[in-house]
Amino acid sequence: MALIEVKHLKKYFNTAGGILHAVDDVTLNIEKSTTLGIVGESGCGKSTLGRTIIRLLEPTSGEVCFKGENITSLSNKEFKHLRVGMQMIFQDPYASLDPRMSVSQLIAEPIQTYKLTSSKQELEKRVSDLMDTVGLAARLKNSYPHELDGGRRQRIGIARALSLNPDFIVCDEPVSALDVSIQAQVLNLLQDLQKERNLTYMFITHDMSVVKHISDEICVMYLGQVVEKCQAKELFKRPLHPYSKALLSAIPIPNIHVKQHKIEMKGELTSPIDPKPCCRFAPRCPYAKDQCFASEPQLTDCGNHHYVLCHRVNEI
Ligand code: SF4
Ligand code: MG
Repeated sequence: MALIEVKHLKKYFNTAGGILHAVDDVTLNIEKSTTLGIVGESGCGKSTLGRTIIRLLEPTSGEVCFKGENITSLSNKEFKHLRVGMQMIFQDPYASLDPRMSVSQLIAEPIQTYKLTSSKQELEKRVSDLMDTVGLAARLKNSYPHELDGGRRQRIGIARALSLNPDFIVCDEPVSALDVSIQAQVLNLLQDLQKERNLTYMFITHDMSVVKHISDEICVMYLGQVVEKCQAKELFKRPLHPYSKALLSAIPIPNIHVKQHKIEMKGELTSPIDPKPCCRFAPRCPYAKDQCFASEPQLTDCGNHHYVLCHRVNEI
């Protein structure tokens, strides 16, 4: 049994312009102690998917099972004991940290909120262990977020997520706001923690090199839909969806002698408001034919656990 099972999940928002299909019929599994990478341009529904899976947002329809239990059907009260098992690390730790709280207060807060201990000594011990675990020096415990650099602030965010001993963490662009030199340190920390604590990650990013480095499996998202799903290695060796091909061909190859074959996407990401029943990538796809504008493609099983949402996957 997978730790996370998502079935036909939808999250729609009513907007002045119509119904925004932020997450539109997503089905996926995440096996325990693995990382599922979610990649796509901003606005494709990655963050909304992550938030809906851990019920920071209520789904419009569909199902999420956590350790075999359907959490979508639980009341808030029933869900509370499972909430500690599903945590999130945010892109901008600065925005998600209360500037008036010190490092130790920030890390203690979730433990206090969920009443995991009533002993002051035990709480202090847990906070100092967590600071050590994420590589924050003990002398920083009375510092405030504005006194720290982005990498250390993200370490506070990671310590807060870990403080409740979760099984599953949604990492939403956790290194995108950091300097490149610090990105690798934080990624390595997340990978070490995964091994030590058997953590399961959903790792959201728009950066193909980051997703390649960190993921076991990858879902490529486009306008609320998963358009390709496979093992990470397989995606980089054999991308099958035209959108994945375009994303991959946009990664610069660090060798001036290799002539890079770029697949150009036409135009911009269109809006996921009231989408028409056709391939959502069709207006930008270099392979689009009449059929692509006339009906919605179905997910095709291409073997080797590789799934693709494209009418023409067997021709191109
Ligand atoms: Fe391109 Fe057609 Fe495939 Fe859509 S269904 S990705 S338009 S070839
Ligand atoms: Mg986002």
